[in-house]
Amino acid sequence: MPSLTFLGATEQVTGSCYMIEFEEQRIILECGIIQGESDTNSDNFTVPFDVENVDAVIISHAHLDHSGRLGLLASAGYQGPVYVTRATNSLLPIMLKDAAFLHQKDIEWENKHLRRAGKTLLEPSYTVDDVDQILGQTKALPYGEQKQILPGIKLRFMDAGHIIGSSIVEIWFETQGFSRKLVFSGDLGNSCSPLLPDPDIVENADLLLLESTYGDRDHRPLDETLQEFEDALRTAAEEGGNVLIPSFAVGRTQDLIYRLGQLYQAGRLKQQKVFIDSPMATKVTKVYKDYTHLFNEDDPNFSEAIKEGWENWLPIMSFTQDVEESMALNNITSGAIIIAGSGMCTGGRIRHHLKYNLWREKAHILIVGFQARGTLGRILVDGARQVRILGSDIAVKAQIHTLGGFSAHAGQSQLITWAGRFKKPRPRLYLVHGEREKMEALRTTFHQQLDWEAHLANFRETITF
Ligand code: ZN
Repeated sequence: MPSLTFLGATEQVTGSCYMIEFEEQRIILECGIIQGESDTNSDNFTVPFDVENVDAVIISHAHLDHSGRLGLLASAGYQGPVYVTRATNSLLPIMLKDAAFLHQKDIEWENKHLRRAGKTLLEPSYTVDDVDQILGQTKALPYGEQKQILPGIKLRFMDAGHIIGSSIVEIWFETQGFSRKLVFSGDLGNSCSPLLPDPDIVENADLLLLESTYGDRDHRPLDETLQEFEDALRTAAEEGGNVLIPSFAVGRTQDLIYRLGQLYQAGRLKQQKVFIDSPMATKVTKVYKDYTHLFNEDDPNFSEAIKEGWENWLPIMSFTQDVEESMALNNITSGAIIIAGSGMCTGGRIRHHLKYNLWREKAHILIVGFQARGTLGRILVDGARQVRILGSDIAVKAQIHTLGGFSAHAGQSQLITWAGRFKKPRPRLYLVHGEREKMEALRTTFHQQLDWEAHLANFRETITF
């Protein structure tokens, strides 16, 4: 009988990691880092299982909360395969090398202080070389193709519609006369997302792990969100302030470019310049261009336009090339839209832009993604009047807009509808990847609407199925 041990994301939206054991074989499903208030969590630099006994690793998509400990796996000696979709395989080098580089920089920074204090220096937990090694172990599969990955174990990726390459993971376990199936939802896309299709429908499973990032609520209707978006941009243009949009490099930034391009082409975008100020977003945006065949078919003009280059869609957009260009943006006090990472303002260039704009009354900050508890983004959403950024106290006078409808995650009704497609007898259901109270709310709704009991797991809990 297969067993599954919850090694992460049991009470929070990040740090996905599950260990599956079957017939003396061991699979690690997801190997993500914990983000948000625990960004520097020491758990991010340890592997919560014995690497020697791992036979295969499966990653649902390239976001670091699902993939960010892969470099650490290599450093701990893992030499086996890492199964991913093709687009994930294109994104992982960008994501993982950046993370390794930042980690090495952090250690160098700490060592400066330790050296002065005459203390023992730290070693990085893993390096860019480890990332190179694990990237050599990835095996990319197309969506929809079932593949035997170990004796008695088959794998198939379906499209989750969350970011390019994101997948719903189906795993079959079979041995003489016995068969079981696990489905892991991964992160499910919001069906209102403009670029990607709705999540694929899956109808059979014995065990279902369902994400619950937005388990407690539905997003605002898209029409309202788009109107708010346009209104905020217009007000900023009239008042003469800059617009800052903290944005995840993968997915959200490309959605924003799409929306801004729509407004531009309709003559309704008053700003003169849009800057994508994130080296990672710049690289990822290029990868998106190679996978237009995975886009939904709602707007063929768009797919055609960006094949020649994203600038065809939004001619006033430019990608900053280096730190000097990024710093030069600090001199612009009005008329610019600056999209920069990180999405929750926990790091990256957005913090510099916030430092230069938050105290200006005419500046507008558009929050377009999920903000985990404890992050600067969440603190701003919650209405702080003063924040500390890069060593300075900064008054918050800018206007903060929270636009819920842009989420790349399914809202509560979408989660219930997607899971409700599973045929009876329904699979055993575990909610994961959500803050506890959101999972509780989703559990209640599953009970009320579908008479389906959902379970919440504890960290390190093992279940059989
Ligand atoms: Zn994700």
